[in-house]
Amino acid sequence: MADMRSRDGTELHRFPGGLELPGNKAMSTGRPVRIAPVPRELIIPLSQHIGEPSTPLVEAGQHVRRGEAIAEPASAISAALHAPTSGTIAAIEDRLIPHPSGLTARCIVIHADGNDAAVPAMPLPKWEHAPPDEIRGHLRSAGIVGLGGAAFPTWVKLDTEGRPAIERLVLNGAECEPYISCDDMLMRERAADVVSGARIMLRALQAARCQIAIEDNKPEAENALRTALREANDERLELVAVPSVYPEGGEKQLIQVLTGREVPHDGLPLDIGIVCHNVATAAAVHRAVIQGEPLISRIVTVTGQGVAEPANVEARVGTLFGELIEFCGGYTQISSRLIMGGPMMGFALKSDEVPVIKGTNCILAGREEEVAPARATMPCIRCGECAQVCPASLLPQVLYWHTRARDFEKTREYDLFDCIECGCCDLVCPSQIPLVSHFRFAKTEIWGKELERAKADIARQRHEARQARLEHEAREQEEKRRRKQEALEKMKSGDPKKNEIKAALERARKKSEQ
Ligand code: SF4
Ligand code: SF4
Repeated sequence: MADMRSRDGTELHRFPGGLELPGNKAMSTGRPVRIAPVPRELIIPLSQHIGEPSTPLVEAGQHVRRGEAIAEPASAISAALHAPTSGTIAAIEDRLIPHPSGLTARCIVIHADGNDAAVPAMPLPKWEHAPPDEIRGHLRSAGIVGLGGAAFPTWVKLDTEGRPAIERLVLNGAECEPYISCDDMLMRERAADVVSGARIMLRALQAARCQIAIEDNKPEAENALRTALREANDERLELVAVPSVYPEGGEKQLIQVLTGREVPHDGLPLDIGIVCHNVATAAAVHRAVIQGEPLISRIVTVTGQGVAEPANVEARVGTLFGELIEFCGGYTQISSRLIMGGPMMGFALKSDEVPVIKGTNCILAGREEEVAPARATMPCIRCGECAQVCPASLLPQVLYWHTRARDFEKTREYDLFDCIECGCCDLVCPSQIPLVSHFRFAKTEIWGKELERAKADIARQRHEARQARLEHEAREQEEKRRRKQEALEKMKSGDPKKNEIKAALERARKKSEQ
């Protein structure tokens, strides 16, 4: 039964918890998307997606053109990379990357030649009749990954072979995190691309229905999408305006709002016949299939009170954050903190000398208090506020106690891995406990232990195999030694039959002599 209805009468449901947050989006939506200039140097990390880092296809000194493949997927879950402009491969070396660790990682560095010369476009004509695996292969070659932040390879997520039939595709346009407005602007300005991408994804999934979900506080984007849908005249696609509650843009939460069904614990939307993609990913699919362009740029929200002219900017992958902030008028005097992503789920960066990657949706610069307030932590008072707002129906306070006690097995029992790190519990905790940091720490510890266990298992298996080989070799040596010994003894003692004959001859000889 429906909990509520959208404006056009679609049945909607509620997810547990959540918060109504101030959007702070107007500061970056006042002007159209700006196109950032191509920088002189581009830094392209080999790992900017979920899965294995890509394998370079180029060498230092080589000239490349825009759109040329410079790295290929290293495994089943990996992504291709393409030159964002023409120029020379200056190096393949470690550079700072946008990661909470603040560490460096392998990057391809391109020095632009200023011509921006491109390789010929490679569209997929007649995609309407192409088999799903051909569409997936095309998206794999074009390096398309999820642009909602997770950067999971899109072609892998569209592979549903061997699974039950997909009942519907959900396009996620519920951009609920404060400050971020890149999807809103994309839907306003490129709604037709989103709709076209949705139709290509339906073909790849062999699904019959697509819901494009958008928060009902984005009227311009909603109107643009309605116009695009009318023009596409495809009755399989529908637009659903959903109420604005954080974190509705979470995949599991959005699916619950649209269907009333919960993605099973430890499961995937696929398990209930649903596949969910971000609207910007759909637009990237359109560009790859219809226009033949690989993923070399994206819209990034550059915002916060620390930026002079906040805006949404289309930037080439590899452009440094600092250059984009400069393009947006530079820092204001109050800027003291830099975040990649939004204030709820983003992470702080120590430097702006890190490049835009495929998953960069927002660069937020602001005051410490504005983007990540410094807080004095007090003991948990067991008020239960955190559990009230948790959209995953977890008990954050219990997870916190077990994390503090380093009882990570217990945190698993309390479904730590269902935590989507939305930050709602952090925000309401009267004791100002940084709960999400504790949960991230616990997850890292568990993954680390699993890695150690896997390594120990491999080492044990290797040791056992070596022992078995040594024992086998020792047995063989023993057997050889035994056979040799027998042969020697035989040689020494001679053949018994021959000995009998010899004795008989000796006896006969003696007899004849008598
Ligand atoms: S961060 Fe995790 S535990 Fe906290 S409210 Fe969100 S999902 Fe629940
Ligand atoms: S909100 Fe904070 S103080 Fe209250 S139970 Fe949760 S962790 Fe404890």
